[in-house]
Amino acid sequence: MKNKKGFTLIELIVVIAILGILALFLVPSFLGYTKDAQKATCEANRHIIERSYTFYKAKSVEEITLNEYINSDNGKEYQGSKCPAGGVYTYDDANGKVICSIHGEDEDKNEGTGEESGDGDKSEDSDPEESTTPKIPGTELDVNYENVISVVKGENIGQVGKGQIIELKDNENNILGYYIVKYPTHIGSFSGQTSSGDLLELTKDPAINVFGTGSNAIKDALGDRRSIGTKILYNGKYYISIEKLDENPQIPGNGTHWVEIK
Ligand SMILES: [Zn+2]
Repeated sequence: MKNKKGFTLIELIVVIAILGILALFLVPSFLGYTKDAQKATCEANRHIIERSYTFYKAKSVEEITLNEYINSDNGKEYQGSKCPAGGVYTYDDANGKVICSIHGEDEDKNEGTGEESGDGDKSEDSDPEESTTPKIPGTELDVNYENVISVVKGENIGQVGKGQIIELKDNENNILGYYIVKYPTHIGSFSGQTSSGDLLELTKDPAINVFGTGSNAIKDALGDRRSIGTKILYNGKYYISIEKLDENPQIPGNGTHWVEIK
């Protein structure tokens, strides 16, 4: 009998071929595991941010976007909770969910396995009123109909005070625009005309976030944006300028430059 040691070339080729064939099956499934792991991490991170941001929003008077929150002192501990695949997180106000640009929103409800957020989903989804509340243009404020007068085009409004917000609708209940009263006045039939100078249309231009307080903070945030109708988010509240701002803009609450939007 001949004593064979090691492998012959043929045997080696066969082994390598088998390994190659195995790799064909295994590599994609390893990649799949990575993707699943990324997705699971992303979902866990979304939950953490969602809970903390939703809670913060609920107890805070200040309207703050998810991005602003994460970049603020209150939310900075969540800066590390990111999507491992590089997705960008946004907050869906209507459903109170954090959404990843890559992994989307929670899939618990479809899979039926989510325990901790399953109940939350249901209660949030079944609240149609919240999802249809419009926002005051340029702000994160929900339109509060305790303060806002809603009129159909052509309707009489009557006497209104400074800072009053008016919602204008057409006959089909479509919102045509929002206006804020600059000076106390009497408005007859209203169709969106603001030529009297007493009303200012609230445009979609977003409010400028003022970091810090005081005149210099406002100056820094404004830059050269000083026209009438400029909106700022100052110390947790929204304000709109009803006069052209000069070199030294007033601090909201003092003087006549700013009117609070609420
Ligand atoms: Zn993601």
